[in-house]
Amino acid sequence: MKRRQFVGGLAAAATLGACAKEDGGCDGDAGPAGRTFEWSCVTSWPPKFPGLGMAPENLADRVEAASGGRLKIKVYGAGELVPAFEVFDAVSRGTVEMGHGASYYHKGKVDAAQFFTAIPFGMTNLELNGWLYYGGGMALWRELYDPFNLVPLPTGNTGVQMGGWFNKEINSVNDLKGLKMRIPGLGGEVLRRAGGTPVTLPGSEIFTALQTGAIDATEWVGPYNDASFGLHKAARYYYYPGWQEPGPGLETIINKGAWDELPADLKEIVSTACQAISTDMAAEYTHGNATSLQQLKQDPKIDIRPFPPEVLGLLRSITRDVVDELMANDPAAAKIGKAYFDYLEIVAANSRIAEQAYLETRQG
Ligand code: CA
Repeated sequence: MKRRQFVGGLAAAATLGACAKEDGGCDGDAGPAGRTFEWSCVTSWPPKFPGLGMAPENLADRVEAASGGRLKIKVYGAGELVPAFEVFDAVSRGTVEMGHGASYYHKGKVDAAQFFTAIPFGMTNLELNGWLYYGGGMALWRELYDPFNLVPLPTGNTGVQMGGWFNKEINSVNDLKGLKMRIPGLGGEVLRRAGGTPVTLPGSEIFTALQTGAIDATEWVGPYNDASFGLHKAARYYYYPGWQEPGPGLETIINKGAWDELPADLKEIVSTACQAISTDMAAEYTHGNATSLQQLKQDPKIDIRPFPPEVLGLLRSITRDVVDELMANDPAAAKIGKAYFDYLEIVAANSRIAEQAYLETRQG
């Protein structure tokens, strides 16, 4: 590790994004086009974890190739430089230039950020992208992160998740009472009000917690990623749908000082590569979930089943209360939440007569 990557606080701003002097000098005659950059990217994911952890690796490869090596990004898994949930602070402070994770992990720091990952019973992947890229969402996201010295770029989405793995049956709303479950973000708060005990754990700690009985249940992602962790070996019941995360968007965050130092073409390369990763991840998860589900269905010890409508009805109604409170207590959440739900109303109306109607027809 180069020493400058550990420099925290204000002093780091001066070194961020600059190519190191020991690399041969960079502020000189070659001009902006010849300047090279070496960045570090910390993530909330286990190193090289399928999908989530490979997204920033793929991003780094694409950026390096597209820039002819002028911007090199070294990716660190959770815990290698900073813990999973300290990505936001590390990039904000300028300890590193870049991070990859999910904005709902910043609950308690910047609550309104949750609208850019997932709202229970909210937008799907396609709907969220419609809002972010064409419906004004990105401007709100940039405005929200600006005081933290961060530039956000959407980078990936897992699609509709699964409800999770349970070691007890959920037959009625009473079965949620006392349920100790790993579930982050607003979904966790909804579970708490339904009588459960939400726990936030990084991915790497989920399997052991479930297997030892420290938790009764967990949500993670879907068949592709859940099978990678072996969650099917630690719980019997696999519930759907993922009401808590209907299409969670992932984020790249870049320290503003580092971003501002990039010439325009490198900025464009980074932005375009992030968007390419989103397209790639949608394809990867469509394929990975399908083939993993096919395998899980062949295991007689696994019981894949839907949540009872009564349970989903309760969770939906609590979600409205939780989101209303979030918006009432935080002006940023009020502004972003209004924009989110205004958009959801118009985009859902189209989804109902397009994807939803079509998929129901195909099942018939
Ligand atoms: Ca999840």
